[in-house]
Amino acid sequence: MAREQDHMLHRGIGMTSQRTRERLIQRLYEEGISNAKVLEVIRRTPRHLFVDEALAHRAYEDTALPIGNNQTISQPYMVARMSELLLEAGPLDKVMEIGTGSGYQTAILSQLVERVFSVERIKVLQDRAKERLVELNLRNVVFRWGDGWEGWPALAPYNGIIVTAVATEVPQALLDQLAPGGRLVIPVGSGEVQQLMLIIREEQGFSRRVLGSVRFVPLLNGPLA
Ligand code: SAH
Repeated sequence: MAREQDHMLHRGIGMTSQRTRERLIQRLYEEGISNAKVLEVIRRTPRHLFVDEALAHRAYEDTALPIGNNQTISQPYMVARMSELLLEAGPLDKVMEIGTGSGYQTAILSQLVERVFSVERIKVLQDRAKERLVELNLRNVVFRWGDGWEGWPALAPYNGIIVTAVATEVPQALLDQLAPGGRLVIPVGSGEVQQLMLIIREEQGFSRRVLGSVRFVPLLNGPLA
């Protein structure tokens, strides 16, 4: 009963209605997101459950929103773009995500790849993200509380790695943990000068593509209780 009421409540709020969600998908499409699977997964994932109730009415705007602890839930366009870049060369089995945050990007990825390994340094954010994924019955994700600069070496290598905070330089540990042919999508820079990069582990060495200016919160050091 509670669930049903909850459902009706959310349907009742104009700003989280199906039509509002459709508008976001249309906008992402118009801005160049062309991977139909990515668009479909974003369409069916309730972003309003990943933000504070007070912000739920803005959940389907194409904008980053605060999630506490000085962090933000990524802008839907950026989630879509990074997911699309990861999947550009075909389906992926093992993907590591650095910066779980609200768990929204995690939830999107978990519906696009076989398994997600998600690392976050702020314990309370990670705990909340975990609960949301269980609630949505997304079970192919494992979480690690730790420092993303180090990745998750015990479970390496990964076919894809996505970093949702900006790094001053590409962490060597993440390069080391890429499987042959593996793809790393990462914002690099600092302050106002940040570039989204796609780095691929080739037979010999790495190829790098710069994809344009972005705006992320910084990749910090060390875990935080
Ligand atoms: N994809 C998330 C974005 C969260 S913002 C979302 O859509 O909700 C970036 C996240 O990276 C924050 O949660 C922040 O705590 C985390 N982060 C920053 N530095 C980190 C590090 N060194 N290791 C792991 N996570 C880190």
